[in-house]
Amino acid sequence: MFPATNVLKFAIMNEKCPHCDVQLEPEPGFYQGAMYVGYGITVAMITLIGLILYFLGDPSEWVYIGVVMACMVLIAPLNYRYSRIIYLYLFGGIKFDSRYAQ
Ligand SMILES: [Zn+2]
Repeated sequence: MFPATNVLKFAIMNEKCPHCDVQLEPEPGFYQGAMYVGYGITVAMITLIGLILYFLGDPSEWVYIGVVMACMVLIAPLNYRYSRIIYLYLFGGIKFDSRYAQ
């Protein structure tokens, strides 16, 4: 789905699967909904980081803010890709085709 291995080109996406030729963008603007999946991932990450920091000794609020912001920036490429993958899996209407199973 994502051909680039360079982290700075994380947003480049194939139009079709190079293996089975399925259309990876079912309609224009399809991936706008992936934003909500990304939001869910972000909220889960913030909650997890907050709990970890709390149980590591409850530092000042600026430590919470700094650590959460740094982690969100570092995780952004993964978040972007996984939101799209999960959204396509849930709402893309692509069915498994055993002819392409390996
Ligand atoms: Zn495929």
